[in-house]
Amino acid sequence: MTASLDVVIVGAGLGGLAAAIGTQLAGHRVTVVEQAHHLAEVGAGIQVPPNASRILAQWDLLGSFSKESTSPHAFRIRGYSTGELMCEQQLIPTAVETYGAPYCNVHRADYHNLLIDKCYSLGVRVLLNSRVVSADFNAPSITLASGETLTADLVIGADGLKSNLRSLLLGRPSPPYLTGDLAYRILISADLMRADPDLAELAAKPIINVWMGPRAHAMCYLLKGGSVYNIVLCCPDNLPADINIARAAPGELEEFFATWDPRLRKLLALSHDVSKWRLQNSREMETWVHPAGRFTLLGDACHATLPYLAQGAAMAVEDGAVIGGLLGKLESEDQLPDILAIYQALRKHRTERVVKASTRHRDIFHMEDGEVQRARDAILREGSGKAGF
Ligand code: FAD
Repeated sequence: MTASLDVVIVGAGLGGLAAAIGTQLAGHRVTVVEQAHHLAEVGAGIQVPPNASRILAQWDLLGSFSKESTSPHAFRIRGYSTGELMCEQQLIPTAVETYGAPYCNVHRADYHNLLIDKCYSLGVRVLLNSRVVSADFNAPSITLASGETLTADLVIGADGLKSNLRSLLLGRPSPPYLTGDLAYRILISADLMRADPDLAELAAKPIINVWMGPRAHAMCYLLKGGSVYNIVLCCPDNLPADINIARAAPGELEEFFATWDPRLRKLLALSHDVSKWRLQNSREMETWVHPAGRFTLLGDACHATLPYLAQGAAMAVEDGAVIGGLLGKLESEDQLPDILAIYQALRKHRTERVVKASTRHRDIFHMEDGEVQRARDAILREGSGKAGF
């Protein structure tokens, strides 16, 4: 028999909503508290690797998700200046055969809407326009900017990269740190590409194409039933100190990518209104759990990472599924501190490894021209079609 708790989750991002689904399915009463006036995801495409899509399958969401997402056939790595195909890894059927779930690409808004709809169908209460300004981790309770206080049996902080709850737990400001990189995020019409003989092949079928060059890489894939091409360009940070998101200046991308594959440059010529986002990480913490055993963090609030393994949201969704699964085993409220300790033991080491591996991937993706880059490319050509992903 499971004890039934009142759980407050702060933040309605992908991580907070996943935790809400997992926790409500485990028989608890969940309230999600979100500072935004309406629920919406900003940004463009996101890769959903099998460790995340498997969770969607467990929640009976894979059918609806498949209608909104695209399943890439393969992952292709290209030389940056010529576009030469150096390495190909099949994703269909490898992902399902190896991991029991598909590799998918989806627009963030569609992913987010799917989780919101599931929350509402399960009876999760969602409070919008509700910014948390302080918390008492012993009670536990949170206080909103309006002055209202909500008390619960358990509070979960899923308030993202700039988490206020992380700072409150640590008892000091804990701003994220700069990684030195930024991401340009671009969406273009795939029909425009199909009308150009040089670009048509890139939009012919769902394939993830990656160009790896000095200090930067481009990651591109089809979205929305093949009608939209998503381009993410990760480059050295050039934003002013106090600005984290901005529009790219005219000619900025053309200048940086002047020596890259002519096809990539053609794609950039089709790009308008390009935004760039500073990439920041959160620092490793000693603990995510308050000693009273009634508060913990999840997602970017405790392990924000460079997106170079496409695992940030996947880790946040895993956190949510794990905490929900554990709360499903709760027999009495007294076990809550133990449950949170187990959650941390299962999640902290794994997510820290992902953050470190994502940073190491930058070194592999962004190698300068020279002997080491040539050795990397030789290994890629040698391993094409053989390596796992
Ligand atoms: P968030 O999405 O940041 O949600 C936090 C929520 O909390 C927000 O809704 C916010 O409004 C709310 N909030 C904040 N403060 C308060 C407060 N005080 N009170 C109430 N509400 C509050 N991940 C992948 O898995 N695959 C990818 O392909 C991928 N690509 C990426 C590409 C780029 C360029 C970037 C930048 C990231 C990428 N990621 C990817 C990472 C992924 O976007 C994040 O890891 C994920 O969205 C984090 O989810 P979250 O729910 O933890 O945080």
